[in-house]
Amino acid sequence: MNGRFESERKKMVEEHIIRRGITDEKVIEAILKVPRELFVEEAFQEKAYGDHSLPIGCGQTVSQPFMVALMTQYLKLSGTERVLEIGTGSGYQAAVLAELAQKVYTIERVKTLFEKAQKILSEKLRYKNIVTVFGDGTLGLANFAPFDRIIVTAAAPETPKILTDQLANNGILVVPKGDKFLQTLTIITKRDGELLIQDAGGCVFVPLIGKYGWREEVNGNR
Ligand code: SAH
Repeated sequence: MNGRFESERKKMVEEHIIRRGITDEKVIEAILKVPRELFVEEAFQEKAYGDHSLPIGCGQTVSQPFMVALMTQYLKLSGTERVLEIGTGSGYQAAVLAELAQKVYTIERVKTLFEKAQKILSEKLRYKNIVTVFGDGTLGLANFAPFDRIIVTAAAPETPKILTDQLANNGILVVPKGDKFLQTLTIITKRDGELLIQDAGGCVFVPLIGKYGWREEVNGNR
């Protein structure tokens, strides 16, 4: 791996992850390990370690590193969990999760992005614990449920019931909930079949599009 990117990564973790309040050592280590420059469009590699979202093609973006770290920290991963991610995008968040969990299932609805992410994750970085799936993530992944953790990386109008149904007891679901322009990062914990809901502040994501998400035409998404 290129030394320059490595030192930029360290600086980014120092300035934007640790200084802004991420304390989970394992999350910090995972962010230090995953080469973010491989997940952004080539023209934006130089900017891979700024604390902002970046284009990944098909009108979609990879979240700013701080948001990736924050959402991951809310998942409280110990290493034994099976995690479902909805919205593979570039695959960056999936790679971070794979460093911290036992197995990651990740779903993407845009074929080009799905194929690109699959290549990077399995061929280039050789992750053995990531299963990439092409399809509508608002339906979850019934064949592999229940999941100990679920993370939605696109903005949902509501939390699809299908997803809370596929969450294991004591499981945690992290989802940006709101309209197209602004959402609240929502943390849902399942305890004895009950859902405890916590708001964790504002965030901005591209819309979750699908049967139990937004309709494509409404958002003008490609
Ligand atoms: N986690 C990604 C960033 C996600 S951007 C990363 O690390 O790069 C949001 C992604 O969600 C986009 O790629 C978009 O195509 C996808 N998406 C939107 N609705 C979806 C759905 N219903 N099922 C699966 N993926 C969806």
